[in-house]
Amino acid sequence: MIGSNYYEETKYCPRCDEYVRFLQNLAASYCVECGSKVHLFSKKDRTRFLTALQAEKASRRGQKNVS
Ligand SMILES: [Zn+2]
Repeated sequence: MIGSNYYEETKYCPRCDEYVRFLQNLAASYCVECGSKVHLFSKKDRTRFLTALQAEKASRRGQKNVS
């Protein structure tokens, strides 16, 4: 259990331009430094994440077809 939530402890703040600690309410998460809404990923990381996800899906599908 230790460390299982590690990656959820920071989110990306576009105003601070870095991953920051945040406060969360029902609607959104907010940077503790400047109060801006924060995102799970920066735009660049989000693109990279989605690309990796697509690639993984594609390779899984490929493996299924091969075997
Ligand atoms: Zn901020």
